Amino acid sequence: MAAEDAETQARNVIAATEPPARLARTGCRGCSYVDYCWGD
Ligand code: SF4
Repeated sequence: MAAEDAETQARNVIAATEPPARLARTGCRGCSYVDYCWGD
């Protein structure tokens, strides 16, 4: 089920000691975190 898969993926990210690699900019929807993701 898609929701359960998404939950599993989220839990894996939360439990990881390092963040996952940043995805391609084309996937960005321009939300309020844009300065954190692309401000460098
Ligand atoms: S700014 Fe928002 S939509 Fe864009 S990559 Fe960051 S979190 Fe995703």
